[in-house]
Amino acid sequence: MQVHNFSAGPCILPQEVLQGAAQAVQSFGDSGLSLIEMSHRSKEFVAVMEEARALAKSLLNLPDRYEVLFLQGGASLGFLTAAYNFLPADGKASYVDTGTWANKAIKEAKRLGAINVVGSSKASNYDRIPDCAAEAGDAYLHITTNNTIFGTQYAALPKGDTPLVADMSSDIFSREFDAEDYALIYAGAQKNMGPAGTVFYAVDAERLGQTGRDIPAYLDLATHIDKDSMFNTPPVFSVYTTLLMLRWMRDNGGIAGMQARAQARSEAMYAEIDRNPLFVGHAEAGSRSQMNATFRLVEGADAAAFDKLWADAGISGIKGHRSVGGYRASMYNALPLESVQVLVQTMQHFEKHHG
Ligand SMILES: *Cc1c(COP(=O)(O)O)cnc(C)c1O
Repeated sequence: MQVHNFSAGPCILPQEVLQGAAQAVQSFGDSGLSLIEMSHRSKEFVAVMEEARALAKSLLNLPDRYEVLFLQGGASLGFLTAAYNFLPADGKASYVDTGTWANKAIKEAKRLGAINVVGSSKASNYDRIPDCAAEAGDAYLHITTNNTIFGTQYAALPKGDTPLVADMSSDIFSREFDAEDYALIYAGAQKNMGPAGTVFYAVDAERLGQTGRDIPAYLDLATHIDKDSMFNTPPVFSVYTTLLMLRWMRDNGGIAGMQARAQARSEAMYAEIDRNPLFVGHAEAGSRSQMNATFRLVEGADAAAFDKLWADAGISGIKGHRSVGGYRASMYNALPLESVQVLVQTMQHFEKHHG
């Protein structure tokens, strides 16, 4: 049976990407070796890293001065890396509290200095993106562009004089944005651009080196720029599979293509949540995520019956996160519209037979 994979992360990848990755583990190019048993200094792997960095940069339309890196430690180490590289030893930055991941970013940054939380939607269990702006004198404003757990996303990204630092783990490569506004973007690969094991950074190199801090070598983005993202052994399998995903995105209309797909999927999903009397959405309409739709059954509806229906339809991974409950349909780049249609039909079937 075909599986419809709505997993929140690690998540669905296109079949051709999985096949290419499997093939490379068997034998990579003409080398006679597996991708995961060859030197990362080989010309074959150096070419992989160079292409992945260049392709990500061109897909996102990053200006020349931006550097792309593929490192380790996940977005969770990115929280600390961001603060080390951009929070001046005697300065301050503002953060927006939009949920679990934003809170972790705040906690890590507070180890290094003065952090203002300039907006929070905690009181309503993070069902919206709060209105907020940076304060005068901030080194940066930190945002989490898409809140994977609560299913909220900035409909319009903040604009202003203060540079942005953004955790884009769960919506990178799904919509166009103005890269010039960002000092740093970071994203764990496993939500929208590849397998777990690597974290993507795009950094405005001209803004580095201004914090007056002594930065540990691995956390210093300048170290990695200097070594072409090969300061230490890179996660070769993750970087290669991410490259295959980047090529797939390029060949399927680039970011504009991904954006059109995300719009089509999320419109179909939210139309059903709004129409079907047995379901209610979690996020406010103006803050809804195109990547993760959070919803639950109305009081008294037969959850066991619904759970059986979607499992029987081959749907996987829609149980909600424990902090929200209900359901979460994660609709990342590789998810076909058809999978959303199957979920919508399942909700309609449930209404008809169990309403
Ligand atoms: C999953 C996720 C993270 C954590 O990523 P890791 O790579 O597991 O450290 C951080 N931020 C957001 C928005 C996420 O969705």
